[in-house]
Amino acid sequence: MDFTGKKIVIIGMGKTGIAAARFLGKQGARVAVTDEKPVDQWGSEFEQIAKKKWLEIGDYNARILKGASMVVPSPGVPPGNDLLVEAQKKNISVISEIELAYWFLKVPVIAVTGTNGKTTTTTLLGEILKCSGKKTFVGGNIGTPLIEYVEGLQKDDFIVAEISSFQLQWIEKIRPFIAVLLNITCDHINYHGSFAEYRRIKTRVFANQTKADFAILNAADPEQEEIAKTIHAQIVKFSSKSMLQKGIFIKNNNIVLRMPGVNEEQYPLSIINLPGLHNVENVMAAIMAAHFCGCSQENIIAAVAAFRGLSHRIEFAGEKNSIKFYDDSKGTNVGSVVRALETFAKPVILLLGGRDKDGDFETLKPLLAAKAKKVILFGEARDRIASLIGKDMPTLKKAKLREAIESAYKNAQPGDIILLSPGCASFDEFANYKERGNFFKDVVGNL
Ligand code: ADP
Repeated sequence: MDFTGKKIVIIGMGKTGIAAARFLGKQGARVAVTDEKPVDQWGSEFEQIAKKKWLEIGDYNARILKGASMVVPSPGVPPGNDLLVEAQKKNISVISEIELAYWFLKVPVIAVTGTNGKTTTTTLLGEILKCSGKKTFVGGNIGTPLIEYVEGLQKDDFIVAEISSFQLQWIEKIRPFIAVLLNITCDHINYHGSFAEYRRIKTRVFANQTKADFAILNAADPEQEEIAKTIHAQIVKFSSKSMLQKGIFIKNNNIVLRMPGVNEEQYPLSIINLPGLHNVENVMAAIMAAHFCGCSQENIIAAVAAFRGLSHRIEFAGEKNSIKFYDDSKGTNVGSVVRALETFAKPVILLLGGRDKDGDFETLKPLLAAKAKKVILFGEARDRIASLIGKDMPTLKKAKLREAIESAYKNAQPGDIILLSPGCASFDEFANYKERGNFFKDVVGNL
């Protein structure tokens, strides 16, 4: 791909946008950059490219598209973004940063996608591969963007890339030799327009695979049955619900890996240090992928046993008066709230709210009835959630998270669990889910 003299527009000047600009500048492109935020908020990393000859800083409007041959949106830019819509009208190709990076990649890619569990599974798989002596780069939607990786020497055996639906919207050729689809539940519908469209975009991860590649699917996810029919790669499934002829599943407190032509492998569930059945699913998907990368059972067991999970995903956040607190601030959609509630056997006081993403909160009703003794609703979404979960569930409404935590504590009895699993984005009150989770821990610490 020759970019010499071509005008490429980059939307979004975060970490990924800046890395993409630098890469394209080095390739000889004329790079025009823009962001809905003003230039003085683009951060110190931008300073490194701000004075480059190949760079043009443009206003955040359609004029920037004039003469452009390609547009690269940053991963956080939603599909309905005005500039992207305009670019398509003008027949300018829109390419996500992972697709752009793929054109220059020399290392085989394992892609992990799904509504929930991407970061956990991607990170764990990276750990397993490293523990098995394989040189591995972990990145994509987490950590280092792929476009930054292709600037380097590319000496790894594997790339494990977390890929989001926004990124999959704008791919053309990317062909992971293993693609994992963990689950599909309702999320980002406000951006994708409908659940059907969101599901369609997620399945694009398999679009360019061939018989030589592997697709790892979730047998317990009803959304994936139809999807399987469209996949060209060899399909292997994981299941937390039933045993499989071929694939990976749970039997008698063990994970069983059963593949034709190889000895059956067993992994005791007791080696997993993460809460909930959903994390067993993540572990099974990671083990399956690791198997195709040639990892031994011994190394896989060592890596899984050493993995302690990530912050803000049902993370234990302290105990006061025999009341336990859990931070699941990364639980930003209804699917993750479901799995968090399922994790606990004791009565839960649930903190739910934040910025609404049009979540289908009404579907929580039966589980709330079974697991929650009270729901404290907070933030912008509190009234809409209240109207959806109905009057049968005892609820309290609070404007801010701090009041919600204090109120939960006041209403709790020894033995209860207080769980922040908000099912919403954090942006009404916080910069991101990490800030919200850390705030939760601070407030809990000072109760
Ligand atoms: P993602 O990168 O897809 O957002 P994370 O691993 O960061 O996934 O987890 C996000 C949220 O989803 C957390 O609340 C976590 O507890 C929950 N979660 C993790 N794995 C799963 C899964 N397999 N199914 C449903 N929810 C999950």
